Amino acid sequence: MTRTDQPTDIRHATGRTVLISGAGIAGPALAFWLNRCGHAVTVVEKAGTPRSGGYPIDVRGTALEVVRRMGILPRLREAHVDLRRLTFLEGDGRVVASLHPHAVTGGVAGQDLEVRRGDLTDALHAAVRDDVEFVFDDSIETFDQSAHGVDVAFRGGGSRTFDMVIGADGTHSRTREALFGPEEQFHRYLGYCFAVFTVRNTLGLSHETVMWNTPGRAAALYAVGAGEEVHAFLNFARPEPPFDAFGDPGAQRDLLTEVFADAGWEVPGMLAALDDTDDLFFDAVSQIRMPRWSSGRVALVGDAAYTPSFLTGQGTSLALVGAYMLAASLAGRAPAPGFAAYEHATRAFVTANQGLVGEGGATLFPTTAEALRQRNDRLRGLTALPSGEGRPAHSALTLPEFPPTR
Ligand SMILES: Cc1cc2nc3c(=O)[nH]c(=O)nc-3n(C[C@H](O)[C@H](O)[C@H](O)COP(=O)(O)OP(=O)(O)OC[C@H]3O[C@@H](n4cnc5c(N)ncnc54)[C@H](O)[C@@H]3O)c2cc1C
Repeated sequence: MTRTDQPTDIRHATGRTVLISGAGIAGPALAFWLNRCGHAVTVVEKAGTPRSGGYPIDVRGTALEVVRRMGILPRLREAHVDLRRLTFLEGDGRVVASLHPHAVTGGVAGQDLEVRRGDLTDALHAAVRDDVEFVFDDSIETFDQSAHGVDVAFRGGGSRTFDMVIGADGTHSRTREALFGPEEQFHRYLGYCFAVFTVRNTLGLSHETVMWNTPGRAAALYAVGAGEEVHAFLNFARPEPPFDAFGDPGAQRDLLTEVFADAGWEVPGMLAALDDTDDLFFDAVSQIRMPRWSSGRVALVGDAAYTPSFLTGQGTSLALVGAYMLAASLAGRAPAPGFAAYEHATRAFVTANQGLVGEGGATLFPTTAEALRQRNDRLRGLTALPSGEGRPAHSALTLPEFPPTR
């Protein structure tokens, strides 16, 4: 067990002890708010450091208010990615349309945030690391709950008892599996897999995304700035999720190479770069839908409970809002009623945002030649500027006033 950032403040000794599994987005955000409420928080993360990879992520609507209340909005505004152009290409490389990104994503210019995922994880970690215990390179091996607490055994050895355990360990949450059983019951596969990794900016792209499509396949290069590296993105349709490839980067590379073997445009270079990349993120495009998010003293937050999929662009915003709502619901309540209040207050927001699948993003990846032709026709007609209002689901929850703001 590697310990870093030992808590420096023992003010919270009278609060409950809480173990959070996962230091992605939801985990540190929840740690921040629970710490503010006087709980003693430990975060266990299986990686050696906060993981910074991945495509730039969106923070919109209600989630903007969460980061404002955390005091990290100015830092995130500075990190905002000013993406100016989204260009779609035919399979042969000809341009279909070149648009302002918000015309497709439903974002609100000047208000919504798009930041590198690593900039957000850094900001969240910096906001809590002095007040919360982080344990990297470790994970929960088993837990066992009783009336007096949750007994946790750690993979790295050692055991401790906490008043509550929260699974913030992502779409493939082991906490969820231990609590409710195999993922398949809750996994709603949306028919695609995707990979994100870093490649060299050989096209000299600047503040823009270029996306190439053939039926059932998409490849994109996303230039956050005008730097030497860009985010590569590969997306492909597949009837069944390749369960064997999850957790096996070698199998993921083989699958991508097979699916995109005869692809044009910049794809051969992207495939060649796959061998050298150390930040490959591969997953199914899917949602997690659960009848309940807690049992006894253990609850789930973020993707572990309600992945909406990247097609909605709302995964990070749901994680931030869910973390805030969970901490607010626990204020003055015992774990079980607090978890019930969290679910009662947050489920409609989650459902509305999961329902965004089918709008915008999903139509970007047609699987037949006819559907692709129709999509391209629609894109050619999409000259309108963004409405300036965003999608109602993004702001469909008003945050409760919640102590203690510094
Ligand atoms: C490296 C990375 C890259 C990503 N890139 C993209 C992307 O390009 N596009 C996209 O749509 N989504 C991506 N995501 C998912 C996206 O971050 C989430 O959808 C969203 O931000 C919700 O955050 P979350 O905190 O619930 O889950 P996540 O951000 O997935 O965080 C979960 C955390 O839990 C940790 N963890 C997992 N299992 C355990 C365990 N057993 N014990 C301890 N810790 C564990 C993980 O290492 C991770 O740090 C990525 C996630 C990661 C971790």
